[in-house]
Amino acid sequence: MAAPPAYDVVVVGGGPAGAAAALTLGRADRTVLLADAATGPPPVGEALPAAARVLLRDLGAQDVLDDRHHLPCFANLSAWGSDDLAAQDSVLDPHGHGWHLDRRRFDRELRERARRLGAEVAIRTTARPAGRSADGTWTVELRGPRERRTVRCRWLVDATGRRAGLATGAGARRVVHDRLVALCLTLPPSATPAPDASTLVEAAPDGWWYTAPLPAGHRLLARYSDADLAGVRTGAAGLRSDVARTRHIGARLSAHPWPSWAVRRAPAHTVRLDTVHGGGWVAAGDAAAAFDPLSSQGILTALYTGMRAGRAVHDHLCGDRTALTRYAAEVDTITATHLRNRRTFYGLEHRWPRHDFWRRRHTVDATKSADSRPNTRPDLIPPPGVRP
Ligand SMILES: Cc1cc2nc3c(=O)[nH]c(=O)nc-3n(C[C@H](O)[C@H](O)[C@H](O)COP(=O)(O)OP(=O)(O)OC[C@H]3O[C@@H](n4cnc5c(N)ncnc54)[C@H](O)[C@@H]3O)c2cc1C
Repeated sequence: MAAPPAYDVVVVGGGPAGAAAALTLGRADRTVLLADAATGPPPVGEALPAAARVLLRDLGAQDVLDDRHHLPCFANLSAWGSDDLAAQDSVLDPHGHGWHLDRRRFDRELRERARRLGAEVAIRTTARPAGRSADGTWTVELRGPRERRTVRCRWLVDATGRRAGLATGAGARRVVHDRLVALCLTLPPSATPAPDASTLVEAAPDGWWYTAPLPAGHRLLARYSDADLAGVRTGAAGLRSDVARTRHIGARLSAHPWPSWAVRRAPAHTVRLDTVHGGGWVAAGDAAAAFDPLSSQGILTALYTGMRAGRAVHDHLCGDRTALTRYAAEVDTITATHLRNRRTFYGLEHRWPRHDFWRRRHTVDATKSADSRPNTRPDLIPPPGVRP
């Protein structure tokens, strides 16, 4: 008779979703292995809304947010639908201020919390399912810096990010809603650091711009547009001359040296899986549904779906046959809410109706949208600084 699997669950991917799943499973006394390849580019996505406090507390990881390493964010500013800046102050937020994260540290600290709860954490390790036996046990190949090994488990969590490598390998389809991409540049610290704790969004004829301070004095600049439009088919020089023509964003950068390193291009489209669970696997975080960064909800959603997916797997392994279906319904609701919010907020910008970027977003895409009903729900979560 074959030996029992070494792990109840192997979580593949050690970003916020994978760490939240491993934390939840560890707290439920499940045997867990969390494998993170960390092979991709450094994560983009550093603004964490204040509501994350509640989630991190539920995960028992509230202490990962400390003022020494992550910058408090006190306001979100936007020039959206008008040239003028509107401010959304954290003083009005019942959860307090948000954060500009040191993302690598945040992810690392979350994995460390999972390890303390009993999860085995394999960093710089790629996991690849090699097959599933008749009793439902997975064989998973692990390839790390020092070793290659094969382990067995009862369940897999796909927390591999936007590519959803495991789920698509198991037959799930990705439903893509747009072609948004980001050009990102981290600017070095300025010689005369100015206290600036806000994010800033500015709409433009072919998309939108974003800037925010980062810990250690750096600043993030990002330009968003569709992959086929000229704004994101440029290099550092084009980005520099274009940002100089913005009304607000360029001024925020003026004290920072322009770096010699290359601009990074990152996919930022809205995409979801047609099914978030299947035989022996469940997807969480960006792997299940990745949202337009205008919402600033990516990390929050990754933490939430990671936690819920971990819980659903535990309940399923305890014999609850509807746990995964309930989880899938929850991801559907979150995605439908995001799509409604996205349509509402892009609909607030009317200055360039004939430009492709805005025309596409003002046209309801009934074929791709999960829910094309008009927005009547009261639970809108505004993107940073954008007020309905
Ligand atoms: C340009 C841009 C800006 C954004 N800005 C924000 C923002 O300001 N605020 C916000 O909340 N969100 C933002 N987001 C979204 C946010 O970055 C993501 O939603 C979040 O990182 C998703 O977390 P995750 O854990 O699902 O996936 P990820 O963070 O992508 O982590 C996936 C991990 O899985 C690993 N992996 C992949 N395949 C394997 C494998 N086979 N074996 C082992 N490991 C594997 C990868 O190496 C990676 O470490 C932004 C996104 C983009 C593109």
